[in-house]
Amino acid sequence: MHDVEISRAVEILRPARRVLAFTGAGVSAESGVATFRGAGGLWEGRSIEEVASPEGFRADPIKVWRFYEERRRNVARARPNPAHTVLATWQDRFERYTLATQNVDGLHQAAGSRDVLELHGSLWRVRCVSCGTERDDLLVPLPQLPPLCAVCGAMERIAVVWFGEFLPPDVMAAAQAAAETCDVLVVVGTSAVVYPAAGLVGIAAEAGAKVIEVNPEASALAHLADVTLRAPAGEVLPLLDAGLREG
Ligand SMILES: [Zn+2]
Repeated sequence: MHDVEISRAVEILRPARRVLAFTGAGVSAESGVATFRGAGGLWEGRSIEEVASPEGFRADPIKVWRFYEERRRNVARARPNPAHTVLATWQDRFERYTLATQNVDGLHQAAGSRDVLELHGSLWRVRCVSCGTERDDLLVPLPQLPPLCAVCGAMERIAVVWFGEFLPPDVMAAAQAAAETCDVLVVVGTSAVVYPAAGLVGIAAEAGAKVIEVNPEASALAHLADVTLRAPAGEVLPLLDAGLREG
């Protein structure tokens, strides 16, 4: 990554009025959040797909509940990094600013971000498997057994999107609308090989938005990006922010 690329990204962002930031696991990883796929993609000998699925929960709700208990404890130790902080301050910099994330750890909110579009749900909410009632739940550690819904008495589950499930349609629609109307899309810490990431970037690029990619790893996005910054988000975003402040 060179200064000239940072400068180009700053020049793209400076006049922007409507900005969409879209983040993925890389931003969380810089805060020490273990990636979703642990050692070999297995958890206690089972594939993540098997655990994090409606079928998995039906077959063994206590095991699935314990899996999320472990994730919550891991996330509870993590703190927002400078990338989270910059992305939170940008909500006061741009005329219209949307932050959409694939992360379920709540670190954007911990850094002060409001109205985050959580495309994959949140570890900090639970939802009744029967009537769908949701509530915030910040307990760490979690109780040993899934709690029961106060409305109907059925079991509650963690309100994240599982394999084989659709993304929350209202959240997805809001993210797509932001992608269609933004001047600049900043994609941070996601390789964007899976939908909706790939979809949002495509929508924004097709609608004429400039695309800035921040990712230390090579990704399939590069051909859509106007600027690609191959470095950790926690280093790059403060540099971009400093550049904007100078302007
Ligand atoms: Zn219920």
